[in-house]
Amino acid sequence: MSDIIQLLPDAVANQIAAGEVVQRPASAVKELIENAIDAGADKIKLIVKDGGKSLIQLIDNGCGMSITDARLCFERHATSKIRKADDLFAIRTMGFRGEALASIAAIAHVELKTRRVEDELGTRIEIAGSEVVRQEPEALPAGTSISIKNLFYNIPARRNFLKSNAVEMRHILEEFQRAALAYPTIYFTLHSDGQELFQLPAESLKQRVVHVFGNSYNQRLVPVEEETTIINLNGFIGKPEYAKKTRGEQYFFVNNRFVKDPYLNHAVVKAYEGILAADSFPLYVLFIEIDPAKIDINVHPTKTEIKYEDERAIYAILQSAVKRSLGRYNITPTLDFNQETGFSRMISPKPLEEITPPSITFNPDYNPFDNSKPSEGRRSSPIPDQWQTLYQITEKRTDIQLPLHGEEHGRVVESTRPTRKQPFQLHNRYIMSQIHSGFILIDQQAAHERILFEQFRQQQENRQGASQQSLFPQTVTFSGSDFQLITDLLPDIRALGFQIREFGKNTFVVEGIPADLTTGLDEREVLDRLLEDYKHNQSQLKLPKREQLARSLARHAAIRPGTELTTEDMADLIDRLFACEMPNVSLNGKPIILTFTLQELMERFER
Ligand code: ADP
Ligand code: MG
Repeated sequence: MSDIIQLLPDAVANQIAAGEVVQRPASAVKELIENAIDAGADKIKLIVKDGGKSLIQLIDNGCGMSITDARLCFERHATSKIRKADDLFAIRTMGFRGEALASIAAIAHVELKTRRVEDELGTRIEIAGSEVVRQEPEALPAGTSISIKNLFYNIPARRNFLKSNAVEMRHILEEFQRAALAYPTIYFTLHSDGQELFQLPAESLKQRVVHVFGNSYNQRLVPVEEETTIINLNGFIGKPEYAKKTRGEQYFFVNNRFVKDPYLNHAVVKAYEGILAADSFPLYVLFIEIDPAKIDINVHPTKTEIKYEDERAIYAILQSAVKRSLGRYNITPTLDFNQETGFSRMISPKPLEEITPPSITFNPDYNPFDNSKPSEGRRSSPIPDQWQTLYQITEKRTDIQLPLHGEEHGRVVESTRPTRKQPFQLHNRYIMSQIHSGFILIDQQAAHERILFEQFRQQQENRQGASQQSLFPQTVTFSGSDFQLITDLLPDIRALGFQIREFGKNTFVVEGIPADLTTGLDEREVLDRLLEDYKHNQSQLKLPKREQLARSLARHAAIRPGTELTTEDMADLIDRLFACEMPNVSLNGKPIILTFTLQELMERFER
């Protein structure tokens, strides 16, 4: 019997390869854009018709091709980007596999027009099903234009698999946006069915992000920047309060290549822990620069996956950088640091981990009953009268602000307590405070919750909660299961400031409760509510148990709308709020502070 193995004809091999490289019009778009970028273009124009099914045309002003190259580029494994295997680990170009054009030419009608600047005449080639139909010289502008018509014309199964034009267009848009974000200095335009969808002039990354996503994003972005020996990181993350219900706006670029990376995504999301509403996804557009020798891009033909040599270190760097940015910029952007606003202490000159957190010490001399109105007791004021002496924020806080970089910042710090207009309470609900550029409105309840929450968390860390002694210790008896639950939580409950110990069967004696409780509940009620909340949240939120307890207690202890505050109460609240790590995000991820600028006011008054 004769031998039966034969080499496949190129056209068939290319068609098979095409299955991997080109799944849909958007994949072809991606390859064409990458080629234009590799060709050094700074102007890229994309035109599509019918979701890319009838036409995808890409016009660039890159280096163009010679007559021979124009012919060769459609051969499989034809590439100008690598020459030897070693080059695979020094890849700086988007393409390198040399199979995109060969694949596309196997499954569509392709027309290539190209001219190098140094050539007088350009070349036009028509190719279909891997066969060159025509090649001729033509007078052309410098650069390259490739048209892909009737994608999958010779693979009906594939063509039938394509989704509606609208769906295919969405995929194309996604590819286009990735490229546009990755290369803000390239001028991009996109036309679809005769309509201009994007025109993005060369610009900064921030402008590009705003152009791609919309004007309102201007104030949603927080810059991230980090230089380390392993990677350089830069880009923007979204403020937590603007996180969306869908995952859409999340972009990683490694050496300017868009990648999907659940592991790195996890690092970013982890940095948002505790400040995002459940099931919401923060925006990020982050660029990682890394030595190409330390990664392997050649994991998949579409090149959206990467293997890293030092994955864990990258995870850690990413997480801490994002966290730091969130901490540092977590204030409304219009607060003007260059002026005397009193919020200067929010600027941390050093990375947060170098800063020792302010330690809270318990003042043993504090006596809640040392009060001129003993009958009303400790709960007469929404914020305990002597809370300042109760919690001595250790004075270190002042030296951690110094020295600041830059002159303007130095100026701010000189005035530790700048003159400020008195805050004003609106409807016993919001606090209005003037700032340099306008005014802010603070939701008093949300603010107090945030303050207490962070304070409780700190106490839990230090295992030391400030407590107020009860006049008459109370015994509280629980059901068997609740008793067990409290016993399990005892160290954490104590850390919140409860003085509580076991007292026989299913019973505790409570000798003190957290110092900041202002709700007028008694020991039993406080514990009951805490427990109830805890059980409820446990099933709903899946937070670590300490965080959950701190949350519940903060909720119960915080002042409610309708509580009248004195000017001092308000000033204290503002000070404490701005000393928080996340002053602007409420416990359920909503804003605490709204900023109104003079500019806005003037516009509204139409001046
Ligand atoms: P790869 O990009 O992996 O090298 P492609 O099949 O995408 O493979 O392209 C093959 C070659 O064709 C490239 O290496 C490049 O030399 C050339 N080429 C493709 N598109 C362009 C373009 N827009 N401008 C200049 N040269 C191009
Ligand atoms: Mg390519």
